[in-house]
Amino acid sequence: MKRDHKPKYDGLFPVFTLFGWKQCCKCGQDFRRELGWQFWTGPYYAGRGVLKCLCRECAPTEEVAYEIMKLHIEPPTERPKGPPPPPPPMGRRGDE
Ligand SMILES: [Zn+2]
Repeated sequence: MKRDHKPKYDGLFPVFTLFGWKQCCKCGQDFRRELGWQFWTGPYYAGRGVLKCLCRECAPTEEVAYEIMKLHIEPPTERPKGPPPPPPPMGRRGDE
């Protein structure tokens, strides 16, 4: 039997680490062959963020994991106030 997994919270998804160690971002311990949580957070480079993990000891439920995730997710960067900088002048070749 199969069913679609519907994550309760955006960006938070369960993970079962079969191969390789994952480091829990709360207690800092590595865990493997355990259920845990994963979520993406900043800093973002080239549209990709950093994948962070949580072990089930730190986050036994999805609700707890989400609370911890919110602490780790970077708030959206605030744009500096004021008018945007003027666009660079279009290059004119040899007109001047
Ligand atoms: Zn942990």
